[in-house]
Amino acid sequence: MAGRNGYDAFSMFLLVAAMVLLILARVFYRAPFLAVVFQLGSWAALIYCIWRVLSRDLYKRQRENAKYYEKQQAVLRWFRSLKDRWQQRKEYKFFRCPSCHALLRVPRGKGKLLLTCRKCGNRFERKS
Ligand SMILES: [Zn+2]
Repeated sequence: MAGRNGYDAFSMFLLVAAMVLLILARVFYRAPFLAVVFQLGSWAALIYCIWRVLSRDLYKRQRENAKYYEKQQAVLRWFRSLKDRWQQRKEYKFFRCPSCHALLRVPRGKGKLLLTCRKCGNRFERKS
């Protein structure tokens, strides 16, 4: 394996994705078109994974892996924010700014409020 990329986080993700797609192909065996699509997707992910592991272009593979980490962190951040909002749902109400879609948090039960977006300065009225 000298000079090869080897296993990294993105390769591991591809391997897991290939297995999940293979399971989905089994689950949807009554829908032949879907099963074939899942099976082809599984093979594509597996072949790409093996190709990445054996690749000698370390710079490109490391950049792909870094991009994968960024996307993974974005997904984890989104889930964390969802969890935080769920935990705070009784004390706070959450609104999206109509112009920039930033998330605003206001205390519940304060009646009609004139909200000012911190990101863009847009003002709008909402009932809390
Ligand atoms: Zn805004």
